Amino acid sequence: MSAVAARSSEHGKDHKILDGRFVAQGIREKVGGKVAALKDHNWQPRLVSLGIGAAEPAKLYIRNQRRVAEKLGIDFDERYYDESISRDEVLASIAKLNADPTVTGIIIQRPIPQTLSIKELQAAVHPLKDVEGMHPASIGNIVYNDLVLGPCTAVASVEMLKTTGLTLPGLEVVVVGHSEIVGKPIAFLLMSEGATVTVCHHMTRNLSVHLRRADAIFVAVGKPQLITGEMIKPGAALIDIGINQVATEDGGTKVVGDAEFESCREAAGWITPVPGGVGPVTVSILMRNVARAAELQKDHYERQYGATGAISGQ
Ligand code: NAP
Repeated sequence: MSAVAARSSEHGKDHKILDGRFVAQGIREKVGGKVAALKDHNWQPRLVSLGIGAAEPAKLYIRNQRRVAEKLGIDFDERYYDESISRDEVLASIAKLNADPTVTGIIIQRPIPQTLSIKELQAAVHPLKDVEGMHPASIGNIVYNDLVLGPCTAVASVEMLKTTGLTLPGLEVVVVGHSEIVGKPIAFLLMSEGATVTVCHHMTRNLSVHLRRADAIFVAVGKPQLITGEMIKPGAALIDIGINQVATEDGGTKVVGDAEFESCREAAGWITPVPGGVGPVTVSILMRNVARAAELQKDHYERQYGATGAISGQ
């Protein structure tokens, strides 16, 4: 039994449920130590969040990012731009942040207006400030098995699987969903760990056939109840990345994943809840990336200019 499972049963909880808040806390403790060490060397990590257009859908995430950052001693700046902002103006703003040595990392909050390209904006962020791990160089590093600043959700999802204690080399894993920010990087990270990976998507002919032979399943699609208990191999680990808002009987709404939770919990050996699974770990990985980016930048500046305080203005 893994540390997480053992802890859960000690507290009388369902040992199958992988507690993302607990995993996130463990990561944050290590990040807190790194941030404190950076500050001891006069290097203050600072995260800048860029919201463009209707920021309302991202507000909850931004508030949470700020809360976690500040707890860890990371400065958090929120900037908002009107929907009418031009591509050139956003690119100029990112270029300014890239050139500012007091800025450690840049987050481009989604969604952005349709007039802009998220890929273009992400590629404009300096790779050393790419704390979301979405720059083409960061994605390329994963292919080369060189994890510098990894894409947060994908890295968080793999961390969750690792808490099961399953041996990754040779593990049969199915990844459902192949988006650039989640499914594809998960597949590459798992290949680096020695797992045998199958990637399914909307053209996959019979999802159940693949799922039934998987020791571990990652699902990142955005469709509630896509996976039910009878589709999976008994005892498999199920990492549910989906976030879907659905209506409740009393006229309200609630957030669910892509797996039908009750039936999958019965069948699975381990399952991540939504909310409280991959989500909190994703934020902790973002902060781990901020600390790593700060260390990389500090090294870079020290190599270029000598003592840190001299050029950073901190
Ligand atoms: P996305 O870009 O819309 O990608 C969805 C993927 O699912 C696509 O690869 C699509 O394949 C595939 N797909 C669609 N229908 C399918 C089906 N019936 N069977 C199998 N695959 C199917 O979404 P995303 O950005 O990857 O996000 C996926 C989910 O994760 C969403 O619910 C999102 O909210 C959530 N998410 C969570 C976190 C977190 O921190 N927990 C972070 C990011 C995203 P095709 O391209 O072939 O259509």
